[in-house]
Amino acid sequence: MTTPLVDSPVFKAALGPASPLRGVGDGAALVTLRGVEKTFANGTLALKGLDLDVRDGEFLSLLGPSGCGKSTALRLLAGLASPSRGALTWAGGRPELGFVFQEPTLMPWSTVFANVYLPLKLKGLSKREARPRIEEALEQVGLHGFANAYPRELSGGMKMRVSIARAFVTKPAVLLMDEPFAALDEITRTKLNDDLVALKCATGTTVVFVTHSVFESVYLSTRIVVMAARPGRAVAEIVVPEPLPRSEEFRLSAPYAETCRKTSLALHAAMEAGGPA
Ligand code: ADP
Repeated sequence: MTTPLVDSPVFKAALGPASPLRGVGDGAALVTLRGVEKTFANGTLALKGLDLDVRDGEFLSLLGPSGCGKSTALRLLAGLASPSRGALTWAGGRPELGFVFQEPTLMPWSTVFANVYLPLKLKGLSKREARPRIEEALEQVGLHGFANAYPRELSGGMKMRVSIARAFVTKPAVLLMDEPFAALDEITRTKLNDDLVALKCATGTTVVFVTHSVFESVYLSTRIVVMAARPGRAVAEIVVPEPLPRSEEFRLSAPYAETCRKTSLALHAAMEAGGPA
């Protein structure tokens, strides 16, 4: 039998001493998952033995092939589902969370203002109380002046900006993002990547970001956890050796290219470890 790529000396040498799963990150762990398993009602074992920390202030990407349990892990963090086994523990209790999905999920019959107001309305704030925060959030995502527009009048990228403003308006300590830019064209995606990093730096929000893209994960993240499927688990960790914010210069730099190479290798190993797609 051949040695799985994740365990091979070539793979370990390429990743260096930091991996797999060294558990680094500058901030304290906000939430820890230990031995987490998730089995769905139909018997699908989506996650098994998942160990993961989310550290204060980091931009953490969960990278892996389809079906490796990235969205399930995010839903567990969001409290939308519970582990079947193992422990998920928030160090100081569950903080304010924001959630951004792949689809902007806007109310088509409501204005941009009303869409961003929704989470504050659910918290009992009046429109008058909420207005400065909504204006600030729209300003932060570059949609100043669009409060009275309807979703149908906006491009795909602008709708995603509204979705991000709606998540940021509650000032979440942790923002959970499930492949938010996957449906956007490359140019819009690049611009939104830059704006998201700027927003993360301005607010100090911790971000957990699910993606399929090696390049996106390296550009955005301070740390990447690579997951494998069948069953879903974490198999490698890559620390990106460049502080946030990033710039176009970073995209053209040797550390970016080298980190993409390492990450790509780790993803290939994870795909091999998970069996045929
Ligand atoms: P990813 O986000 O990495 O693509 P998911 O977390 O969506 O992976 O899914 C992990 C596994 O769990 C897949 O095999 C998927 O089909 C299965 N799965 C996800 N949600 C459910 C569900 N509600 N019921 C049954 N199986 C599910």
